[in-house]
Amino acid sequence: MPTTTDPHTAAGNGTAAAVPAIRFENVEKRFGDNVVLKDLNFEVAKGDRVTLIGPSGSGKTTILRLVMTLESLSDGYIYIDGEPLTHELRDGKRVARSEKAQKQIRKRIGMVFQQFNLFPNMTVLENIIEAPVHVLGQSKAEATKRAMELLESVGLPGKANAHPLQLSGGQQQRVAIARALAMDPDILLLDEVTSALDPEIVGEVLGILRHIAETTDITMLIVTHEMQFARDVSNRVMMFDGGRVVEEATPDVMFTNPQHERTQAFLHAVL
Ligand code: ADP
Repeated sequence: MPTTTDPHTAAGNGTAAAVPAIRFENVEKRFGDNVVLKDLNFEVAKGDRVTLIGPSGSGKTTILRLVMTLESLSDGYIYIDGEPLTHELRDGKRVARSEKAQKQIRKRIGMVFQQFNLFPNMTVLENIIEAPVHVLGQSKAEATKRAMELLESVGLPGKANAHPLQLSGGQQQRVAIARALAMDPDILLLDEVTSALDPEIVGEVLGILRHIAETTDITMLIVTHEMQFARDVSNRVMMFDGGRVVEEATPDVMFTNPQHERTQAFLHAVL
């Protein structure tokens, strides 16, 4: 892959030709006749924390799910660290990449979902070590050691042998965060991770994510309604409406001086 020379990707890493962590090129996503994303182009530089905001149905979750290959791309290309994710241009034709090639890239990406999505029939420990053992090929002992460290870091050292449904929502979400981190991802996708939680629990989960943001250089793509969290953690905010980016700015500018009337109306309604 040729490296990009776009100066926008150079922020923070000192090289003019840095390859973005994520690049959307002319992405289109349709569900039947419903065109959800159309001609979408954007880049996320390595180490960026980008929050996607916008009204319900504007396509934010679909973007995360496309990066995680949980949805199929209708047209266009997504590049992860410069490598085509699901489709590539070969001899002038758009062709799908092999499942093996996609899997190689996907293992560098972690996702935390609104509804936790833990395997209910497995213990907490089994949930966390499943992918490190089966996808990364770690030994069970090695994966278990790391899982115990991660459980400690999310404040659940004693819960390794519990089953997810014995835990509160906040605890399940902390397990889901530990599970994503166990893969040592380059990219972490956070999809409304506090929306299903009781209000008094939201703070503890956001606190853990703030800590991860402060202590790692993981690239993050975040969909959240927690505007204070977005402000604290992200360095860029993109406002979506109808599957398009209507405005992009730093959090300071976006939340205090939005330029686009759709952004102004949206923020007025949620803040
Ligand atoms: P947001 O995250 O901004 O609320 P979504 O990405 O969830 O928006 O949804 C964007 C649009 O795509 C909506 O119109 C939604 O109904 C549609 N959509 C999302 N997932 C599916 C699906 N699996 N099948 C059909 N339509 C879908």
